[in-house]
Amino acid sequence: MILIIFGPPGAGKGTQAVQIRERYGIVHVSTGDMLRAAVKEGTQLGSLAKSFMDKGELVPDDVVIGIIKERITKPDPGNGFLLDGFPRTIPQAEALDQVLEAEGLKIDAVVSIEVDDEEIIKRISGRQAEENRADDKVDVVKTRLDVYRNQTEPLKEYYRERGTLKEIDGIGSVQEVGDSIEKVLRVLDSKGK
Ligand code: AMP
Repeated sequence: MILIIFGPPGAGKGTQAVQIRERYGIVHVSTGDMLRAAVKEGTQLGSLAKSFMDKGELVPDDVVIGIIKERITKPDPGNGFLLDGFPRTIPQAEALDQVLEAEGLKIDAVVSIEVDDEEIIKRISGRQAEENRADDKVDVVKTRLDVYRNQTEPLKEYYRERGTLKEIDGIGSVQEVGDSIEKVLRVLDSKGK
């Protein structure tokens, strides 16, 4: 199964991704986590990425496409994978389609967690107190939200046209949102995907 988990910053993508990974035994591939690891290791990629991440801007497409290509063309991970935080732009989505096609694979579902801006700011302020992520500061969050609405949200239309978009109400407990996602995925699973 190949899934994409999609939504604004603070929608709970990471939390839900972990649950999906455990339930379906698929590999969780998070570009945010990969980039943060590179920053921590102090690699060249990390210092380039950091200059964008700290401002809440997107790391350039060619950089992110390069790391995702390398990751998903590794030997077959078995049950499939769950992409979290990728794609974030139309060129990234097009590049992903090309890579998957070359591998004879296709996306089963794009799970979009829907949360309004007010709730996002509230949630991220809570996360900032707990995790102290540089890009969770209020002004940076505002930029990340603008970037999401302008560059990433148009992808919903891209996937709607391809029949893979599944919109989920992201307001509710982790369990409630998880149950809504499970319902959608169960239908897919029962179709033998
Ligand atoms: P995340 O943990 O997914 O919210 O990602 C944190 C930050 O990493 C983002 O604000 C971007 O600066 C960068 N990033 C992660 N994934 C991507 C991507 N697919 N394209 C560009 N930048 C990304």
